[in-house]
Amino acid sequence: MDKNILIAAGFDPSGGAGIVRDLHVMWEYGLNPASVITALTAQDDERFLTWEAVTPAMLKAQLQSVLRGGRCRWVKIGMVGTPDNLKTLLDAIEAFCEDAFILLDPVLKASTGPDLAQGDYVRAIQEKLDRISLITPNLPELERLAGQRVANRQQADSSARELIARGVKAVVIKGGHLLGPSVDRLISPENTREFFGDRLPGTIHGTGCAFSSALIASLALNNPGRVTFEDMADAVANAKAYVRSLFKALSGQ
Ligand code: PLP
Repeated sequence: MDKNILIAAGFDPSGGAGIVRDLHVMWEYGLNPASVITALTAQDDERFLTWEAVTPAMLKAQLQSVLRGGRCRWVKIGMVGTPDNLKTLLDAIEAFCEDAFILLDPVLKASTGPDLAQGDYVRAIQEKLDRISLITPNLPELERLAGQRVANRQQADSSARELIARGVKAVVIKGGHLLGPSVDRLISPENTREFFGDRLPGTIHGTGCAFSSALIASLALNNPGRVTFEDMADAVANAKAYVRSLFKALSGQ
């Protein structure tokens, strides 16, 4: 187990999304991270039955067991489920890990429909943005986090800047929900970069999880001292290419 990398995410028994997908991606990159489960779901590609969060005490115990004596430099947080579990996670990371680079994939809803967060999880994220290095919302998530409608590129940029004003260091907007070519955008206080890709037909759940895992894996392998905008841009380009080939393989295209 590589204690330098930590994944926190929900469990999807079909393996399409969540921690099984995250670990699969990490192993493909040759990495073997520590991992903790925040929530259990019951679902497959078509149907989502139910989910429940693990208790904060159980999450804390998992974190103490994998982080004891270790330093987590690279952290990916996927589905968390509740405000209490987000606090538990961020507090443990702060206690155990110096200089953690924390990527938060703000999972709010499954592509098959139901909400994957209880209570005021959106507000919990908003209040903790200053502890997050990079956030990777899709457009519906960006709308809810910034509290404004996002129908075009200008609105997407101003919403990302709203999150940056609240403390997050950088935002990757996943453009898959806008019509036209699939354009992702990396935005920091000083820079903006676009990443173009042609749109492949169909949807597969778990591509958001795979993208953020590939992004943190790519950063961990590059292992920069201080993460620059260019480091993040290289990792986004790498993750986008990874997800494209995964999507093609899974959808038989
Ligand atoms: N994490 C878990 C455990 C999930 O069940 C889901 C979706 O169902 C997600 C994350 C989000 O998946 P996606 O990558 O499709 O956004």
